[in-house]
Amino acid sequence: MPSLEAKRLEALYALEILDTPREERFDRITRTAVRLFRMPKSLLAFVDETRAWVKSDVGTSIDWVPRESSFSELAIESDEPLVVPDVRKDRRFAEHPLVVGPDRIWSLAAHPLRTPDGYRVGALMVMDSEPHAFSEDELQALTDLCRLAEEELADIELTRLLKLNIENQARVRAVMDATSEGILLIGRDGVMGYHNRRFLDLFGLEAEEIDGHPLDSLEGPVNRIFDEPDEFRRSILQAAKRPGEETRFLTKQHYPEVRDLEVYAARVTDREGRDLGRLHAFRDVTRERELDRLKDEFVSLVSHELRTPLTSIKGYVDLLIDGDAGEVTEEQKEFLDIVKNNSDRLVLLVNDLLDVSRIEAGRINLRVQPVDLAGCIDEVATSLRPLMEQKRQSLKLELPADLPQVRADRDRVVQIVTNLLSNAHKYTLEGGAVSVRAQADRDDVQVEVSDTGVGMTADERDKLFTKFFRAQNPATQNISGTGLGLNIVKSLVEKQGGRIWVTSEPMKGSTFIFTIPTGGKTGAAATAASAADARAPAAKVGARILVVDDEPDIAGLIRRYLERGGYQVLVAHDARTAFETARRERPDLMTLDVNLPDCDGFTLLEWLKGDPATAPIPAIMLSVLEDTGRGLLMGAVDYLHKPIDESTLLSHVGSIVRSPEPQVVLVADDEEDIRSLIAGHLRRAGHQVLEAADGEQALQAARAEPPPSLVLLDIRMPRLDGLGVLRALRTDEATRNLPVVMMTTSRGMSASDRSAIDQLGASVLLHKPSSAEELAELIGHGLAKGSG
Ligand code: ADP
Repeated sequence: MPSLEAKRLEALYALEILDTPREERFDRITRTAVRLFRMPKSLLAFVDETRAWVKSDVGTSIDWVPRESSFSELAIESDEPLVVPDVRKDRRFAEHPLVVGPDRIWSLAAHPLRTPDGYRVGALMVMDSEPHAFSEDELQALTDLCRLAEEELADIELTRLLKLNIENQARVRAVMDATSEGILLIGRDGVMGYHNRRFLDLFGLEAEEIDGHPLDSLEGPVNRIFDEPDEFRRSILQAAKRPGEETRFLTKQHYPEVRDLEVYAARVTDREGRDLGRLHAFRDVTRERELDRLKDEFVSLVSHELRTPLTSIKGYVDLLIDGDAGEVTEEQKEFLDIVKNNSDRLVLLVNDLLDVSRIEAGRINLRVQPVDLAGCIDEVATSLRPLMEQKRQSLKLELPADLPQVRADRDRVVQIVTNLLSNAHKYTLEGGAVSVRAQADRDDVQVEVSDTGVGMTADERDKLFTKFFRAQNPATQNISGTGLGLNIVKSLVEKQGGRIWVTSEPMKGSTFIFTIPTGGKTGAAATAASAADARAPAAKVGARILVVDDEPDIAGLIRRYLERGGYQVLVAHDARTAFETARRERPDLMTLDVNLPDCDGFTLLEWLKGDPATAPIPAIMLSVLEDTGRGLLMGAVDYLHKPIDESTLLSHVGSIVRSPEPQVVLVADDEEDIRSLIAGHLRRAGHQVLEAADGEQALQAARAEPPPSLVLLDIRMPRLDGLGVLRALRTDEATRNLPVVMMTTSRGMSASDRSAIDQLGASVLLHKPSSAEELAELIGHGLAKGSG
C-alpha cells in the first residue's frame, strides 16, 4: 500500500504544475490577497518531495525554498490554516531565512490547498513585516481565496483527464483499426455507430455511409456485397432478436472481393450494464474454409480409393469362408474370420469418413419414404444380440404395436439405431442392461436407447456430438472406435427433421433420445404403403445379366454373387465392349460401373438409352459415388453403392424383374407419336394413363383428382418446358412429393440442361416415396424414351 505521502505526491505530480511558468489565474489570487489584507507579501506554493515551489507571489523574489524550512510544509499538516501573529515569539521560526533575512517577515497566515481528491499539496500565504493578529473575518477571506485557487486546480485536473480520455480513445481506435476483424456497432435504435477501418475496407464503404444511419439505408451496398443479401439481413435481424445471446453465422461476399466471412454478434453494455446495442465482428475465413474444403476432398478421395480394394478383400474372403474355393480347415477358417472382422472394421471406418465428408459438403442424399421404425429397431436388435450375449448384457425392446410409421430413409434409420445400440453395448460393462423404447409423440416418434453403462460427465456430454471426440474413460479405453459415429448420427437425425439429445450420469448409465417425424401420415395408410413395399419380388429365373466393370476383381465378385443367385452372367470391362455386347446379346439386365476406362457409366447409359435395341434393358448403376439423382434421371432404374453385398444386390435385381402394380401415370410429351407409344405400353401393363401435350397441361393434370402417382416429363415441351414443370411441382405443397421421371435422349440434351437436371435431380428424387421401385417397374417394361 502506498503511504499517504506517496499518494499526495502522486496527486501533485499528476497536476503537472511544478516548474511551469507563472499563470495569470494564480497571480490574480495572490494580487487580491495582498490588497485584501493590506500586507506586502503573498505567495502560493506547492510542496513536493524536497521543496516548496512557488507558483505565484507578490512582494517576494523566491522561486523555491527547501521543504523543511518552508511555512507551506507546516501549512499542509492539517486542514486548519497556520496562523502566526508574531514570529519572534515562536521558537520554530527563530532561524527562518524569511524571518532573519532581508524579507523580515513578522506575521503570517498560511492556508492549505487541496486537490479535488482532498490531498493537501500546497498553501496560499499572506505575510506582513509587522506583527498582526488575524481576525475571524480575515481568516474566512483567506479560506475563500484558497477555494478559488482549488477551483483552478480542479480545472487543471479536468483538462488533464479530458486529454487523457482523448488519448485513450485515439489509442483504442488505433488498436481497433489494426485488428483483422471488421467491427460495426448497431445501436438499440437500429442506427449504425462505431465501426473500424477494417470494416470499411472489407466492404468498400465510406464512413459517411455508416455513421448515424439505420442499417436499412445500406440496402444497395448489402445487395452489392453479399452473395445472399436477404439471408444476410435475416441473420442479422435474427441475432438481434436474441439480445442476450452471442450468435455466429457464415456468409459469403463477392464485392469488392470474394470472401467467406464469419459474423459474430454480441450485446455491448456500458459499465452500469446499460445496453449500448449489438457489436458485429466480420472475420475473413476464406483461407480456413479453403483448407477445410481441401481436407474434406482429401478424406473423400482417400476413402473412395480405399473402397475398391476393400470390396475385393471383403468379397473374396466371404467366398473363401463360404467354401466357394474348396473346403477350409478349422484353423484357416479362424484366420479368415480375423481377416473378415478387420476388413469389416475398415469398411465401417471408411464409410464413417465418407459419411462425414458427404455431410460436410452437403452432399447426402436421402430416400425418404414411409418406414416401419419398430421393424428397423427389431432388425438391428436381432443383429446385435449375439454381441450383447457375449458380454452377458440384457436387451429389452418396448415397441408398441400401434407405433406409427415415420417418413425417413430406411437405411439411414438403421444406421442411427445401429450406432446408438452398439454404443450402448460398447460402453456398458459385462452383465449390464440395455433397452430401447419407442413411442409416438404428436407428429414424431421418439426413440430412447438406455444403458446401465459407464455414462459420462457433463463436460463430456457437451462434446459428445463433435467429430472425433472420445471420452477418456479408463473403463472403456480398450474399446475401438473413431469418434465419428455420433457426429454422423446427429446430422442424419436432423437431416430427417428430428432432434437428438442425451441424459447421462457417470457410472450409472446413459439414455440417448432421438425423434423422427411421422410426416402426419396415419398408421393405417402408412401400413398399406409399406405392405406394397414389402411385396416379395418375383425374380425371373435364369435371367441373363451383363456386368460392366473395369476392375476384373470386382466384376468377378459380382459374377459370383449373381451366379449363386441363379442368374447367367456376361462380363464387359469397358463401355464400348459393353455397348456391343448389349446390342448383340440383349441381356435382361445390366449392372454399370460409373468409372470405366473409355468413358463414364453415365455416358454408356446415354448410348444404351439412345439405341432402340438396348433402350429397354434395365440398368443398375454401381458406384462409390453418391450420385443417385443423376443416375436415375439418366434412365437407370436403380442405384447401388460399393462395397456391394450379395443380399442387397440380389434383392435389387429381383425387384426389377418383377410384375408391376397398377398406377395412375401422367405422360407429358409434345410429340404425339411418342406420347401414345408410351401410354400404350403403360396401359397394356395395366396402368391408368393421363396425357398432356405441353407443360401447362401437364401442370393441370398433375393437380387433378385422383392425383397421378408418377409423372413422366419430356424435357423439351412448348409453353412450359419439363424443367419449368418440375420446378412448379416442387413449389406446390400438393405435388411436392410426386415422383417425376424426366425423359430425354442423349442427342437432345445440352450440357447446361444436364447440369440443371442434376441439380434439381438431387432434390427432386430426394423426397420421393419409393421412387426407385416405381421407376424400376416402368423402365423395366421398356418405357425409356430413347427406345421410341
Ligand atoms: P466411437 O464409439 O466410435 O468412439 P461415437 O461418436 O459413437 O464414437 O461416440 C463418441 C464417444 O461418446 C465414445 O467414444 C464414448 O466415449 C461416448 N459414448 C457414446 N455412447 C456412449 C454411451 N452409451 N455411454 C457412455 N459413453 C458413450
